Amino acid sequence: MNADNTTGISRDELRRKLEFYQDLGFTHIYRRAAAPVMEEIVIPSLAPAGDTLLRIVEDLGDCKRCRLHQKRNKIVFGVGNEKAKLVFVGEGPGADEDEQGIPFVGRAGQLLTQMIEGTAKKEGIPLQRADVYICNVVKCRPPENRTPEPDEMEICGEFLFRQLSVLQPKAICALGTTAAKALLGGKDGVMKLRGRWHKWRDIPLIVTYHPSYLLRPYNQDAKRESWEDLKKVLHYVYD
Ligand code: URA
Repeated sequence: MNADNTTGISRDELRRKLEFYQDLGFTHIYRRAAAPVMEEIVIPSLAPAGDTLLRIVEDLGDCKRCRLHQKRNKIVFGVGNEKAKLVFVGEGPGADEDEQGIPFVGRAGQLLTQMIEGTAKKEGIPLQRADVYICNVVKCRPPENRTPEPDEMEICGEFLFRQLSVLQPKAICALGTTAAKALLGGKDGVMKLRGRWHKWRDIPLIVTYHPSYLLRPYNQDAKRESWEDLKKVLHYVYD
């Protein structure tokens, strides 16, 4: 995590502090300069007032803010119902997603669709994939599907956080460790975090296994556990 070179605290801590002051209604803060002069700093707009998904897409533009743009074909912004009560957050696009510009359309995506629709059906909840919203921590495919680097997650995370703030779902489901780290800010992985509720800002959040992990043949226990996680979040959101 990068430390801010003026305050010596991480960007996440700085963000939390600024959000705290914004929540209290402050729009300006003052830095005491070395000389006895007060320097005025306008708090950066973390999410512009009246933000919309369209505005976020426009602000992203032909993004070149990190190295991931170099090898991408398409930016994978997100897909689904803009009024969704439930948002799934994955790690980053794979080859199929990079080609189509839509998240979770490859093998892992097909499994995610089955997990959402199959679990909902078994639980008597009328829900299709198109009713939820699906996006990723990073919007460009990491080369060779490597895990996104912390700086890539931080840069792209600004846009993910804006998306979630606009969507204001009733709950979020983080798919895998990368999504959990991006949203919860800690170091723990899915094994430690799954099975109980967390929060992103004020929104309840469940962590479960990434569908790519579940595609590996020997992960029967993880499949059963992720089914439990999904049941929990679906009942919370749709009961
Ligand atoms: N894996 C992800 O994390 N996201 C996708 O969109 C596809 C695969």
